[in-house]
Amino acid sequence: MTKQLMSGNEAVARGAWEAGVAFASAYPGTPSTEILENVGTYKEIVAEWAPNEKVAMEAAIGASMGGVRSMAAMKHVGLNVAADPIFTFAYMGVSGGMVFVTADDPGMHSSQNEQDNRNYAPFIKIPMLEPSDSQEAKDMFRDAFDLSERFDTPVMFRMTTRVCHSKSLVEPGERYPFAAIPYVKNRAKFDDVPIAAKRNRLKMPERDRRLLALSNDCKYNRAEYSGSRKVGIVTSGVSYQYAKEVFGDAVSYLKLGLTNPLPIDLIREFRARVETMYVIEELDPYMENQIKAAGIDCIGKEKIPAIDELNPNIIRKALLGEEARGVQGDPKLVVPRPPALCAGCPHRGFFYEAAKRKDTVIVGDIGCYALSGNEPLNAKDLANCMGSAFSVGHGLSKAFALSGQDKTVVACMGDSTFFHTGINALEEVIYNDSHLICCVLDNRITGMTGHQENPGTGYTLKGEPATIMDVGTIVRALGLERVRTVNPLHLDEMKKALDWAYTEVREGPVVLITRWPCVLKRLSAEDRREFRMTPAQCTIDRKKCIGCKKCLSTGCPALSFDTCERKAAIDPMQCVGCTVCAQVCPQQAIVKGAKKA
Ligand code: SF4
Ligand code: SF4
Ligand code: SF4
Repeated sequence: MTKQLMSGNEAVARGAWEAGVAFASAYPGTPSTEILENVGTYKEIVAEWAPNEKVAMEAAIGASMGGVRSMAAMKHVGLNVAADPIFTFAYMGVSGGMVFVTADDPGMHSSQNEQDNRNYAPFIKIPMLEPSDSQEAKDMFRDAFDLSERFDTPVMFRMTTRVCHSKSLVEPGERYPFAAIPYVKNRAKFDDVPIAAKRNRLKMPERDRRLLALSNDCKYNRAEYSGSRKVGIVTSGVSYQYAKEVFGDAVSYLKLGLTNPLPIDLIREFRARVETMYVIEELDPYMENQIKAAGIDCIGKEKIPAIDELNPNIIRKALLGEEARGVQGDPKLVVPRPPALCAGCPHRGFFYEAAKRKDTVIVGDIGCYALSGNEPLNAKDLANCMGSAFSVGHGLSKAFALSGQDKTVVACMGDSTFFHTGINALEEVIYNDSHLICCVLDNRITGMTGHQENPGTGYTLKGEPATIMDVGTIVRALGLERVRTVNPLHLDEMKKALDWAYTEVREGPVVLITRWPCVLKRLSAEDRREFRMTPAQCTIDRKKCIGCKKCLSTGCPALSFDTCERKAAIDPMQCVGCTVCAQVCPQQAIVKGAKKA
């Protein structure tokens, strides 16, 4: 078959199809999002967005128990959410093969931390595969299902941002005709009661021993002695590509793909054949610690940084003492451009009004609204993890009450985040009677990861119609009647809703739902029915503008200020006519008109 250029994520999807996978589930998150989007293009695979990673993992586990090959995908922090079921499933083992992807984000390009998820594999006690490029991603992912069934274990597939998003040539293969294994009731294996778990636990050391033997003799763990044996490099994942870029064929490599269990005998043999051995790995000394614990001498984190994403220049400097080659930019010439909410973003009106409130702490969450902390909005005070705003806000408001600090806590999250784990957090708030204003910023889509459908949008990953779950109805079903929905683009309405919430919160929890589509959203039929939107644009009457800069305080990137004429200006390419800036102008200098073609 003709080779095709694929990203690592596309290659994983292809590997899933070739492996005969029948069921796949995920929650979107950079850098893993495109895996399921691409799996969804294969008609033979049922591919679904789950409300969160734990649910995705559990659905894939259920599909495996039902006898088909299944997979789940998530970004690194998603595995924290999904950890509970996978630890137990590792005891049970599989029926149809089951593989899950963790896509780590060294350097935190779009994440709240840079945890090294390789540490999960020995913790869960399951095999881990780490591809270095798209061809390996496809081949290893396909083979991971054989591994899963042969060793009766789920398999962890660890990617990182560079492998996920960079493209290289891939030789596609045929689909393996995997036939579903008929379901047979097997409580000893799949019923998680202590007596079964204790029996299953005892089987795991033997599985580990068999996996270790495989790891020492596996096609994905290979020594390359084409270069000098003065230097030997043990490496895995994308670090192999970086090392090759720096040293080429001048040194020897032990390139590892199956990295839990680590092939200690193979590493010992490699060590004996090279003069000095380096371990080049991104983030934690995951391999190095195990190698040193086995009494094998190596150089690792003494030289290679354990923080941030690696690249060839870092390795070159660390091991050869050479400064980076190539074109060097002058950082002083780069104009700082902090990320901002898009022009016309529906969240802007909410944050503009909420940030004006005195003695208020605004708790944020993971999503576009994270950008509200930046100037000039300067709204959000703090945030922790996905779906945490209401529960963190709950603790915060209880602490303020206990310590007599007179502050109002406003916690906010998006619609997808609400469906992710925000619902559970709201249960906490309602059950324990928090004096908290909970805001669901419903922009009718999963915004920041690139517009994936969710339980509120009315469509599945494959674009099929789905039941629309309404946030307000869910909140009322949880027993709370202090709920109000507001259009955040109307600042007066937004202000009145906040006034109402600030009064009502004295009685107990309040939920405010701001409901308006993300400005970048491709509107669905339901959206068109609900929201009356016509292409529009605002312009500034320069005669009326007094240069007060009040409009700029909304933080819309379409607005700028002409320092010579001391007048504000609107970029017609960006403006969508949301009128938030017009509503704050004291001179009525901003007027709305039809969008020019
Ligand atoms: S993508 Fe949508 S929700 Fe996110 S900042 Fe832009 S307009 Fe706002
Ligand atoms: S708020 Fe109105 S008057 Fe003030 S700078 Fe902006 S456009 Fe001009
Ligand atoms: S109307 Fe004002 S706030 Fe809205 S997009 Fe245009 S410039 Fe930005």
